Amino acid sequence: MKIPDYISPVVAYRVWRWKETGLQSLNGEPWLPGQHLEARCRVAPAARHMVEADNEVPHRKCTCGIYAAKNSEHLRQIGYADGGICGEVYLWGMVVEHKLGWRSQFAYPKSLSLPLSLLPFSLAELNARLLALIAFGIDIFVLHNRESMRLWQHGQGYDTEGLDYIISLRGEHYLRQQEERKPKKGDRVALLGRGIAVVEQADDKEALVMLWDRRVERIARKDIVFSQQNRRWECDAPSAAS
Ligand SMILES: [Zn+2]
Repeated sequence: MKIPDYISPVVAYRVWRWKETGLQSLNGEPWLPGQHLEARCRVAPAARHMVEADNEVPHRKCTCGIYAAKNSEHLRQIGYADGGICGEVYLWGMVVEHKLGWRSQFAYPKSLSLPLSLLPFSLAELNARLLALIAFGIDIFVLHNRESMRLWQHGQGYDTEGLDYIISLRGEHYLRQQEERKPKKGDRVALLGRGIAVVEQADDKEALVMLWDRRVERIARKDIVFSQQNRRWECDAPSAAS
C-alpha cells in the first residue's frame, strides 16, 4: 500500500469492527490489507446538490465519504469506541472538513488499538485474528487503562512487553475463572443416564447432589466438570466418593 508521495495525508481517528476476516467499517464495509478504501456515493444524483460532479467524491453537500474523527475522545463520547477497534487512519484525496471530523475520498489505517474486551481468550485464536490485522503492515497496540501498549511493531514483530502483558492477563483470567467455576449449592449437575441433580453442598473433595427422586448422592469433585458447550456441570462416570 502506497500513499502517493506528493500529498501529506490527514491523520484522523476511526472505529472498526474486528471480524475473523479482518477489519470492517461499522456499516459492514470490508477494509482490505494493502488496498486503500475509496469512497463511493450511494445518494441518488437527483437527491444531490446538482452543481457537484459525480466523480468528485465526497460531495461537499452530501453524506458520502469515509468518515473519521479529529480526535479519539470524540469517538468515545458518542459511544463508538466501545464496540470495536479504535485506530488512526490516513485520509487523502478529496477531504471535506467538518467541525468534529472529516469525510474523505481515500483512507488507509495507520495504527490499531485493540481494547482488552475484544481480545479472544485463547492465544491460538488471538494469533489467528491478529494475523488478519498484521497483514495491513501497521503497528498494533493494546489499550491498557486508556493507554496504548504496543503489541506488534510493523517490520519488527511482536513487542515483548505487550505480549507479556496479554499472556499475564490470560493467567489472571484463568485463575479467576477457576474460582468461579466451583459447584455451589443450588447448581445443577447433569448425571449421565440419571438426569439432572441439584447440588446440596460441595467442597474441594466431593459434592452432595439430590436427584429428582430426592435421593442424595455423593460424587467425587474430580468427576464433576463444567461443560463450556452446554454451560452446565456434568458428571459422566460417578465413582463413589471415599
Ligand atoms: Zn455524495
